[in-house]
Amino acid sequence: MIGTTKKPLEEVLAALAPHRKVALVGCDGCAKICQTGGVDEVAQLAQTLEAHGKEIVFQATPERTCNVAKSDPVLQPLKEKIEEADALLVLGCGGAVQITRHLTETYGLTKPVKVGLNSVGHLDTVVPGAVATEECSDCGDCVLNDTGGICPVTRCAKSLLNGPCGGAEAGKCEVDHSRDCAWILIYERLKALGESDRLKRFMEPKDYSRMAKPRTLYIKEGRVA
Ligand code: SF4
Ligand code: SF4
Repeated sequence: MIGTTKKPLEEVLAALAPHRKVALVGCDGCAKICQTGGVDEVAQLAQTLEAHGKEIVFQATPERTCNVAKSDPVLQPLKEKIEEADALLVLGCGGAVQITRHLTETYGLTKPVKVGLNSVGHLDTVVPGAVATEECSDCGDCVLNDTGGICPVTRCAKSLLNGPCGGAEAGKCEVDHSRDCAWILIYERLKALGESDRLKRFMEPKDYSRMAKPRTLYIKEGRVA
């Protein structure tokens, strides 16, 4: 999922300062899981904004606001309401904000679309409702088959493909002693799997051009460009 945190209220109010009538759009996907933009958070913010003199034109929370197939059926019927609003405020990731902007443009509307959250990366839920961690950096060329299912690109502070670097102490990373060394974890995991021979192989440098942004996935062709 895309992790999000709430922007401070002062920042949201500053973004909305020129606008009185506000349409609120949440996201019942990732933002709901992060407790930043689900139905409840949208309703709470609506009350807060009303207390600060805003008129809430509508509240809508598509199942996945970043996905046109989910957000368009919710937002299109609200076109007249969107027209009535001075601005939209989206409680979703940066992608959700931009898909909302894109949809308003396809409806022929030019409205400010503001963001109420900060996106903090591709995260995976480890403790539901409590902790989500970064496990994958979307490098486009996955090496997990060779590393026991532990990502060195993301979990090693130096993103080493052939580790450890020699600085690890008592299993901890030299860059951050509070973190386990990713390559010690990989070694332990491969040993437990009876696959420690994999560590004798040199892993070729990655083709980091596959991480060049912005990437477009052509879904039917399975191709990224
Ligand atoms: S190697 Fe790591 S960053 Fe790359 S796709 Fe696999 S998990 Fe993600
Ligand atoms: S100590 Fe381990 S995790 Fe830290 S930089 Fe070196 S190899 Fe990577």
